[in-house]
Amino acid sequence: MIDTTLETRCKNPSCGKPVHQIPGHRRRQYCNDTCKQTAYRLRKEQPHLGVTIVDDGTQQRIAQLERELAEANKLIERLLGKKQSKQPFKRSLQERLTRLLEQQDWPALDIHYRVKAGQKEGRVFIIGASIDLLSRALGQLEEQQS
Ligand SMILES: [Zn+2]
Repeated sequence: MIDTTLETRCKNPSCGKPVHQIPGHRRRQYCNDTCKQTAYRLRKEQPHLGVTIVDDGTQQRIAQLERELAEANKLIERLLGKKQSKQPFKRSLQERLTRLLEQQDWPALDIHYRVKAGQKEGRVFIIGASIDLLSRALGQLEEQQS
């Protein structure tokens, strides 16, 4: 059986080779002096790089929130997919606007009704906007395209 307590990894992030420990001696952190100096220099240059102290509970909370966010986004997608106008003219405007916004990567719209950039923002606007606003948005996007 290998005694793992005798073997650790070099603490120099660019090395990481096994460091053999000699029983009864002070625990060595680096395989040699060069690694020790390199690690010291790196710590001095980038004191916070790669150092994120997050305990288990916090990590679990982050994972939980990430799952909840994914769920919420899925729900928004489902609702957005459902909600289209029954009115044929408005619906055709909504569809044209969706297409144009998609083609232009969901830019901001300046139609005296501020629509922030982003797919969600664009789609929420399309659902809620009046025919007048939809027409103005189309006007701006079509102008930008030509
Ligand atoms: Zn080393």
